[in-house]
Amino acid sequence: MPEYSDFRSDTVTRPTEKMRKAMAEAVVGDDVLGDDPTVQKLEALAADVMGKEAGLYVPSGTMANSIAIKVWTRELEEVIIESRSHIYNMESTHMTFISRVTPRPLSSNRGAMDPEEVERNIRKPSVHIPRTSLICVENTHNNWSGAVVPMENLKAIREIADRHSIKIHFDGARVFNASTASGIPVKEYAKIGDSLMFCLSKGLSAPVGSVLVGPKESIDYARRVRKALGGGMRQVGVLAAPGIVALTEMVDRLKEDHERAKKLAATIAGLPGISLNPEHIQTNIIIFALERSRISIPEFLTKMKERGILALATTGGIRFVTHKDIGDEDIDKAISAFHEILGG
Ligand SMILES: *Cc1c(COP(=O)(O)O)cnc(C)c1O
Repeated sequence: MPEYSDFRSDTVTRPTEKMRKAMAEAVVGDDVLGDDPTVQKLEALAADVMGKEAGLYVPSGTMANSIAIKVWTRELEEVIIESRSHIYNMESTHMTFISRVTPRPLSSNRGAMDPEEVERNIRKPSVHIPRTSLICVENTHNNWSGAVVPMENLKAIREIADRHSIKIHFDGARVFNASTASGIPVKEYAKIGDSLMFCLSKGLSAPVGSVLVGPKESIDYARRVRKALGGGMRQVGVLAAPGIVALTEMVDRLKEDHERAKKLAATIAGLPGISLNPEHIQTNIIIFALERSRISIPEFLTKMKERGILALATTGGIRFVTHKDIGDEDIDKAISAFHEILGG
């Protein structure tokens, strides 16, 4: 059996040679005591790239989102959030567990919440009713097949937030994918959020980490929250160093992931049993439904695995994700496997 073509997620990428070298050579200090120069360099670089005052390196995107919500909310408050979002569905309820606030999930058009509905759901606090203090947006939208949420929609939500003095946290785990697909600079997306987090460990291929960016005062407080959550790390320059490589050298290649995902989506969309609109595939995530009378999801995944291909089940069906370690030959291998398993 050759090595698997691993389409489970863009988190499975291995660090590049250059990242390994950067790790080996990283100048380090004790970051909790504030003297790891490599982490400081990454945080300053991230803030600069996003046009924010300050950045905070954290072990995961989930921790970045947890900290952001803790920073912008107090107990007895409510957060407006898209109902299929990663924060609401995939982060083990840190909103209630850590921040002790309630989510108010809203439906959307492929990740874009209706601004009027957002405004209607901003609640005036009373003895019965919590105050709405935060809106979370996500772009690209993971569970909507990596959809790029339109800028006009995000701007309309920003306007509403301003009118009601409410903060916005931008879950930009894949904001570089959004920028690559739309041509809109990441700084423009970052303006939508009071804070934004992005992952170094997904399409950008770093082994570990995410960065939360925002106003200096809020990031100072976020640093205290990170410590309280056990996320203060010591000679962590060894992890930040490949993050710098990710941010400076891995953004431009994301377009290749998008091209490969589109090619795969266009080819499999017509196959019997697959429900997929290839026009919905804008970035590196393909989610499709399978006709159950034809084949079950576990059976399909087993047959893929027998053919050297890994993918994951998700809400709405099956997910294939392209990334640095998926090349043209992996796409061809997957296309053959789809034909073999489904016919057509
Ligand atoms: C992956 C992801 C996260 C969380 O990142 P982890 O590093 O896996 O904790 C948050 N939001 C979105 C949209 C994601 O895709």
